[in-house]
Amino acid sequence: MSKSQPIFIYGITIKDDRGKLKNCQLCGAKFSMSVKEHQCKRCKRAVCDKCAPNKAQVQKADGLSKKSHRLCNFCKDESDSLKRFLEQYKISFNKDSFSQQWLQSFGTDIAKAKNDFLNALDDAKLSKDTNAYDIFKAKLEVVINDIDGFVNYSIKDFMVAALKNVESFRQKEVVKTSILRVAGTLLLLYPQIGYSHEVVLITYFLLCFASEASAYILLTAIYAHILPSQLYPKTNTKYDLVNENAIVVGILRDALQVDSNDMSVIKSFLSQKLRCYLVTLSINLFLFETTFFIISSVLMSGSNGYMDLLAQMAVLFQLSNQEMQKNKFNHEETELFMLRSLRTNQLSVLYKQTQNCDFESYKKVYITTRSDSIKVDNLNLSARQSMIKPDMQKVSEINQKLQEQVDRRDLENKKLNEEIIQLRDKVKQLQKENSILLSQQQNNDSEMYKIKLHEMRIDNSDLKSQIEQLKNEISKYKLQIEDDTKQKITKQKTETMDSDYENDLQEISQFKLKYEQQIRNLKKQADEKKQQNQPNQIQIDEIKENYENKIKLLQKQVIQLQSQDNTEEIRDLKIQNQQLQKKLEKMKDEKNKSELILQKNDEIELLTELNEELTKENQRLAKQLRDLKSQSGASSAQQIKVLEEQNKLLELKLEQYHLLIQELVNIIGKVKYEKQKQLEFSDMKFKQKEDLEDVKMVAEIRTVQTQLLKGMLKENQAQLSDLMSNITQMRQVLEKSKSLKL
Ligand SMILES: [Zn+2]
Ligand SMILES: [Zn+2]
Repeated sequence: MSKSQPIFIYGITIKDDRGKLKNCQLCGAKFSMSVKEHQCKRCKRAVCDKCAPNKAQVQKADGLSKKSHRLCNFCKDESDSLKRFLEQYKISFNKDSFSQQWLQSFGTDIAKAKNDFLNALDDAKLSKDTNAYDIFKAKLEVVINDIDGFVNYSIKDFMVAALKNVESFRQKEVVKTSILRVAGTLLLLYPQIGYSHEVVLITYFLLCFASEASAYILLTAIYAHILPSQLYPKTNTKYDLVNENAIVVGILRDALQVDSNDMSVIKSFLSQKLRCYLVTLSINLFLFETTFFIISSVLMSGSNGYMDLLAQMAVLFQLSNQEMQKNKFNHEETELFMLRSLRTNQLSVLYKQTQNCDFESYKKVYITTRSDSIKVDNLNLSARQSMIKPDMQKVSEINQKLQEQVDRRDLENKKLNEEIIQLRDKVKQLQKENSILLSQQQNNDSEMYKIKLHEMRIDNSDLKSQIEQLKNEISKYKLQIEDDTKQKITKQKTETMDSDYENDLQEISQFKLKYEQQIRNLKKQADEKKQQNQPNQIQIDEIKENYENKIKLLQKQVIQLQSQDNTEEIRDLKIQNQQLQKKLEKMKDEKNKSELILQKNDEIELLTELNEELTKENQRLAKQLRDLKSQSGASSAQQIKVLEEQNKLLELKLEQYHLLIQELVNIIGKVKYEKQKQLEFSDMKFKQKEDLEDVKMVAEIRTVQTQLLKGMLKENQAQLSDLMSNITQMRQVLEKSKSLKL
């Protein structure tokens, strides 16, 4: 017989190959001083520099690593394509994506699935055999908590990404709840399937592409139409898989043309490991993309799914055959190689070859296998529903009695319904009346307010015009005051002018005094000069006479001498003559000087005249000043008198204004009082509204009454359903008695 079922989710141990290998596991380069060995932190391959140039964050037991770690080229490419796949198809936990086309191959769709799932949930509540469900429920928590430690790195990356829309602290609870509803319902309705961890893993995988309802229908389809009952968790350890082994070998030989000499290693591996690949639908035994390819292909094959699964396995084993033989892999090493290295591009090419193969001969084997076991048809939903076949006659009698009761209840219900309808109408009517009253009230209020507002506006405009008048008068008054101040200013100005004149006069008189002094000095000097000059003139005249006489004498002597022809004497005489002429010139100079002094005397006379004129001017100014003084005195007094009179007038006007303002204040007070009255009036209106609310209260009370009546109706319905359950019990009794008879 075969090996016992593994305790935990079936998985592949990934060995840490670092330091144990001589060559790079990707390119085969020999590690040396120049070719350094690294370890990919995702797949744990031992790789060279060239094959692991990238670093990235990787999923660890406690989530995404904070540091970046070395990633081999194989992992880089595979995880990138995984991300692209998730984005392209918007894969998300508990959301329909690929489920739609998978459901189609079983002749159903998402809407039908929803309906079927709801029915199944109801049916599951009535289930008596809860053994498988109880085991499942007890182990689910542990499995979900440990699942991160058991799924391989690629599946883990996928599951984390599919759950990215759920907050991390809720993820486990969300996954657990959905799996409990989907797989739990299956195990309650079909306890013959039994529980193992694969059920959890398959459900989890389906939920990544399907809503709970769709996942439930697909899970049911897997156990009803794809996996034979020999492979149910409850029975699979007793099954030897001889037929399945034969089918895989047949496909390898016929479709993939594998030589029978090359199949010894595969055959050995098949006998040991095929069960694991079948019961898990390969989940957790390959990279995500490979598992997805297998499961999608199987589900798309409908009831041929099991044959498809075997064909896929044949292809995958063939893809590993060469490596198994070359490296002399043991089974675990083969598993690890298949997990790490097999990708969909290789798989899909060989898989196409199996499609050209005639499966009829294998199907015969497959069908024989099924006929030996529990009838798969029993799993059909329709089959389950048709299991009840009650005695029609007895049922009809009971039905009649029940029908009478039902009719009575129906009548009562009708009456109640009518009452409810009437009450509802009343409530509606009341609400209508209410709203009409409210709108009328609002209309009235608004009309009245409009009128009042209009009146107030008129009052307002009156007040405004009055204020305008007041303003005008005030501005007039202001203008008058301005004039008044202007006049005052001119008066002040004339006063200042008067003082200016006085200053000027003082200056002029000082100037005059100075001139008088100067004139006096000049006169003194002139008198002194006159006294000095008078004797000089006489002397000059005398000297002149003397000289002229002497010259006459000399000229006589010259003439005498000329006649005597005495040249020497002439020359002496000439010299004497020259000397005399020089003296004469000197005398002339002195005469000029005295003439200059005489000119000065003329200036003094001019100054004296000026002095006289200035004195006259001074006298004139003094007179003007006196006149001005007398004049200004008289006019100011007059002006002040006029201004005082004006002031009195203005004061009178001011008093009038004060009176006017008082009057206006009174008017404003009146308006305010009226407004107050209006407000009181509107308060009364509010009171009326309160009365209206009382009416609403009555309406509410009526609503409560209606609800009470509804409650009564519900009770009646409950009694009705009790009666229905009585009928069911009676039916069961009938069945029992029938079977006893048999
Ligand atoms: Zn390498
Ligand atoms: Zn790697």
